[in-house]
Amino acid sequence: MRNPRRAYNRDGTMIQPETVGNHAANGLHRVQIYCHTCGHSKAGIDVSHLPPETAIPDICLRYRCSQCGGKNLMSRGCSNEFYARFEAGGKKKDASA
Ligand SMILES: [Zn+2]
Repeated sequence: MRNPRRAYNRDGTMIQPETVGNHAANGLHRVQIYCHTCGHSKAGIDVSHLPPETAIPDICLRYRCSQCGGKNLMSRGCSNEFYARFEAGGKKKDASA
């Protein structure tokens, strides 16, 4: 069975998610969490205290929506932080790993 918090290639192999560790290696320490139930979202959540092997999409499991109390959440890298860093003159990196 597929994990709903993972992306899969066309051939069905799981794509390794970003982790707190490789997020931090890019100078990023924050995520944003969305609630699928009510649409509430919160950005700028500091995750630098979490173990480096924690998958970014799994961070939402630790949270509950502050607005509706729901657990149907989604977490991803905080785009505000990403763009702030990018605009600050961060070098453009190749997307290939
Ligand atoms: Zn909610």
